[in-house]
Amino acid sequence: GAAVEISQLSKIYETRENDEVVAIEKVDLRFEPGTFVAVVGPSGCGKSTLLSLLAGLTSASTGDIAIDGDIIRKPHSKIGVVFQSDLLLYWRTVLDNVLLPIEIKKLDLAKFRVRAEELLAQVGLEGFGNKYPSELSGGMRQRVAICRALIQEPGLLLMDEPFGALDALTREQMIMDMQAMWVRVQNTVVFITHGIDEAVFLADRVLVMSPRPGRIDLDLKIDMPRP
Ligand code: ADP
Ligand code: ADP
Repeated sequence: GAAVEISQLSKIYETRENDEVVAIEKVDLRFEPGTFVAVVGPSGCGKSTLLSLLAGLTSASTGDIAIDGDIIRKPHSKIGVVFQSDLLLYWRTVLDNVLLPIEIKKLDLAKFRVRAEELLAQVGLEGFGNKYPSELSGGMRQRVAICRALIQEPGLLLMDEPFGALDALTREQMIMDMQAMWVRVQNTVVFITHGIDEAVFLADRVLVMSPRPGRIDLDLKIDMPRP
């Protein structure tokens, strides 16, 4: 996993009425390689903004983010992202969805095909490579999205409410499976969630954001034995 260093990070949005909304306010954080960090907090506290900044999808107003010492200003292959919606291309097979980032980068597809199949097997989708997203359940599609995010071996995996759109039972199953999977995946993870229970269950560290946007109120180390 990658080391993440966040220094004096702020994000101020300007609204159409020329008001300023502070979404992230002078945040300093360091994530050690391989740490699973969960970010929780009420709606509007700045969670998605923090994730967009980490993903290089939004530019900071002040400060910066360094991943393994490199300052991030745009999306990078060191970073994999999973959103609430799976964003799979329905006309492509599962395998071709997982390989999409490789195709976009014009890397050697044959070289990554085996890796894609390994990842699918790790999330319990062995033999599903030739199916289409419409043939899979919501939980299975979200697993495919996780494989697509992991195909370039990113040092940092970002997940924005990855189970938010799933029904309660599937969600519970995904959380259990995710925990089992994490033993094998060494990535540093930042995981945004509304569920404090799943944050504590999955994460090594839980950041609780303040109802007043942009601040981190609590930084909890979770000392639970991992399987
Ligand atoms: P969360 O993900 O915790 O719900 P967000 O990061 O989406 O929080 O939002 C943090 C604050 O920034 C909120 O007050 C929100 O209204 C505001 N905000 C988010 N995106 C924009 C934007 N594009 N323009 C203006 N304000 C925004
Ligand atoms: P998930 O927990 O991945 O969302 P479901 O709870 O919907 O999956 O389904 C439970 C199990 O049923 C899956 O793990 C899978 O083995 C099987 N399954 C679901 N949909 C399909 C499908 N379209 N084709 C084959 N097997 C399926």
